[in-house]
Amino acid sequence: MIRIEKSDRLKNLPPYLFKEIDRQKEEAGKRGIDIIDLGVGDPDMPTPPHIIEALHMAALNPGNHRYPSYTGMDDFNKAVARWYKRRFNVDLDYKKEIVTLIGSKEGIAHIPLAFINPGDVALVTSPGYPVYDIGVRFADGQTYFMDLLKENNFLPDLDAVPDEIVGKAKMMFINYPNNPTSGVATDEFFQEVVSFAKANNIIVCHDAAYTELAFDGYRPISFLETEGAKEVGIEFHSLSKTYNMTGWRIGFAVGRAEAIQALGQVKSNIDSGVFQAIQMAGIAAMEGDQTCLKETNREYASRRDILVEGLVNLGFSVQKPKATFYLWIEVPQGYSSAKTASRLLTEAGIVVTPGNGFGAAGEGYIRIALTVDKERLKEVIERINSIGF
Ligand SMILES: *Cc1c(COP(=O)(O)O)cnc(C)c1O
Repeated sequence: MIRIEKSDRLKNLPPYLFKEIDRQKEEAGKRGIDIIDLGVGDPDMPTPPHIIEALHMAALNPGNHRYPSYTGMDDFNKAVARWYKRRFNVDLDYKKEIVTLIGSKEGIAHIPLAFINPGDVALVTSPGYPVYDIGVRFADGQTYFMDLLKENNFLPDLDAVPDEIVGKAKMMFINYPNNPTSGVATDEFFQEVVSFAKANNIIVCHDAAYTELAFDGYRPISFLETEGAKEVGIEFHSLSKTYNMTGWRIGFAVGRAEAIQALGQVKSNIDSGVFQAIQMAGIAAMEGDQTCLKETNREYASRRDILVEGLVNLGFSVQKPKATFYLWIEVPQGYSSAKTASRLLTEAGIVVTPGNGFGAAGEGYIRIALTVDKERLKEVIERINSIGF
């Protein structure tokens, strides 16, 4: 037997903070407890049938069985350009400003390899989607965390980043509508980001995974709608949450041509693109009837209302989100994120995510995903009530 020693890259990863909750979940499962899992951000509703049908038809065509283009089929990238025009009134050159991804996570994880040299800094929000920080670490960069605070509507304070850090910063990751806080961006904030990026030569990566999940008539904006945004950055998008396609693995990045090309160059050395039949299904998703999306949003909105109303009645402090399928809930006085999550699981069989798992600034919160049906959510409220939390 040889000695298998992991790289420093893996050894130095931050501790996995969901380990304890995973262990408790497994234990509760073994004890036969009926668990309600509000932990994972993975839609419970199925992919709409017309999208599955498009995959079926495309899979039957042998022309789709070979290696696809690294950067995406022209037809898919053209459909993305049309979608951006329709949805955000943003013009994109499908040949230079769009790259197809194996889910947006793949692109987010790989993009630091295109720009970060050892010692370069990336500005990342805390709490935040963990992949931003991990991707930067894998590229031997350093992450500087910008806290997302309630008093700033969960937008980072760019003026608070020390000059010395700004000088070393090469990239910045932001995400609105936001996972996990469900905060949303304003035009003014995006304008501020563009000026900051221009003044300091920072490449902006905006993760727009949740722009289509919004309620009460609210329409989230794209970073690329902001004047000058396409000069400083790119936007990551995904069909995962919009069309309940998390398992399909398809997304895309759009924006500044040189940045898109550099990401494409990394990818062409690592993967070989997305199965064409899945790209055809993606076209069907973006160009087909959007009634499915309206229904999805209606369902999340009524789930949100049940849970927010129930939690507020029980004395919790929680804002009603305008977008995303997450509730970001302040923990009761005297509790930590971990202790709250642990008590909900062991006493009530409810899995939630402790906020500190998304970064230090998430301490004091838990995240709930609205990915179980209304009946179960009513039961969540009953169970929390019955344990006297
Ligand atoms: C779910 C999620 C993604 C990843 O989506 P895929 O396209 O399925 O890889 C990216 N960013 C955020 C913030 C997410 O919550």
